[in-house]
Amino acid sequence: MRTLEQLDFENTYARLPAAFHARLDPTPLESPHLASFNSRAAELIDLHPEQAARPEFVDYLTGARKLPGSEPLAMLYAGHQFGRYVPQLGDGRAILLGEVRNSRGEKWDLQLKGSGLTPFSRDGDGRAVLRSSVREYLCGEAMHGLGIPSTRSLCLFGSEEEVYRERIERGAMLLRMAPSHVRFGSFEVFYYRSQFDRLQRLADYVIEHHYPHLRECAEPYLELLREVVRRTARLIAQWQLVGFAHGVMNTDNMSVLGLTLDYGPYGFLDDYDPGFVCNHSDYQGRYAFDKQPEIGLWNLSCFGQALLPLLDENGEAAAEKARAVLGDYQPALVETYAQGMRAKLGLRDRDSRDQDLCADLLARMHRNRADYTNVFRALCGLRQEDPAADTPIRDQFIERESFDAWARDYRARLGAEQSEDGERAERMRAVNPKFVLRNYLAQAAIERAEGGDYGEIERLLALLSRPFDEQPEMQVYAAPPPEWGRRIVVSCSS
Ligand code: AMP
Ligand code: MG
Repeated sequence: MRTLEQLDFENTYARLPAAFHARLDPTPLESPHLASFNSRAAELIDLHPEQAARPEFVDYLTGARKLPGSEPLAMLYAGHQFGRYVPQLGDGRAILLGEVRNSRGEKWDLQLKGSGLTPFSRDGDGRAVLRSSVREYLCGEAMHGLGIPSTRSLCLFGSEEEVYRERIERGAMLLRMAPSHVRFGSFEVFYYRSQFDRLQRLADYVIEHHYPHLRECAEPYLELLREVVRRTARLIAQWQLVGFAHGVMNTDNMSVLGLTLDYGPYGFLDDYDPGFVCNHSDYQGRYAFDKQPEIGLWNLSCFGQALLPLLDENGEAAAEKARAVLGDYQPALVETYAQGMRAKLGLRDRDSRDQDLCADLLARMHRNRADYTNVFRALCGLRQEDPAADTPIRDQFIERESFDAWARDYRARLGAEQSEDGERAERMRAVNPKFVLRNYLAQAAIERAEGGDYGEIERLLALLSRPFDEQPEMQVYAAPPPEWGRRIVVSCSS
């Protein structure tokens, strides 16, 4: 375990040519304080948890004092936002302090979000407000707890600094971690500028540090595309399985490592509504929950296009190859989703009618506005020989007979594979979370935090680090939203 001064920085991104980034220090906040520290993430960089209690901690990690070995920079990228190409974005309010290598040899970016103006801030102020920082801080860890690849959250800082949004709010900073923050848009910027030497340099960098097994391949860049396609397909299938809507799937928010990245106006489904749009600025519903799989492919085709100059000297053959690799996406996503759904339903064998069984349940849930998380969790306790014990599941449905009709088919299916109730329940509880970061839970933590009480953040962090455990004392956190909790507005303005 290390002190802050002993962190083993190895700043590989800073070693890339100057065109890849802008070197600058964070702009400190007015009177910052530590709001929350996540010792689970601290372990990833061998940081001793007691370091958080040091008076220098806040200064070091909010940029008031330089962390020994750090080489702060803002990363350049571009991206397609809501379908339109924006030639230059970049870290407009985040700064990569540096990369830390841990004792297991893993490398972690330490990225400070809300850290002030950069050359990429455009007309923004470089700041993040407490509300959005709490949401991102909690969700990175909630996703990790669910077993879904994500950036991680190390700590959260509050401050006295006034930040102007629809109202005056307080500025905050979030220190997040990931093996890399390289995005699809990091490639697009060099492709659209026709800077193919830089494009290749970036691809080589990503392969060297994150896909080293591709180095020896005959066509490493094509294999890179294949890996990113696979990981993205799996990621989005996992989102769909758990009922997560990202909200802003622009290509600048898509990780080349297949991580969930940049939590803005995201949302977990409460009642099952496939057309759910969590971002109130998304007027067309481009990023609706059920559009995510196709948007994933759309984004990957942007990434594939950006790689074209590296795939072949002959343009046509390159496009042909990229298209073939993009063709892996849908089958990979469908396979992960189908497998995941079978696991959620506790089915062991594969059966051609499984897709219908699942679609039928979802359609009934939709009609009945049944709670997505709670229906699956309640299903874990279904007993094959005892339909009278179905009450907790049936009660999720307005038309209880609608559930009964589906349950007859389900029981027949379970019977056909000689399913055993106790064993199945255990398997199902390991994949159907009892707790997810519902909007209203995050909102309650935000309102407390805005009043200076960070206790609810700690409670949620602990709760969501083991979302599959029963935690009976935390039962109220599994409840569907109260009326006020259904109407929370989240948008990009944060
Ligand atoms: P996002 O929608 O949060 O992923 O951000 C899209 C782009 O806008 C990125 O380049 C961000 O760095 C930038 N951005 C968002 N908010 C701000 C802000 N308050 N100040 C400066 N840049 C921002
Ligand atoms: Mg972003």
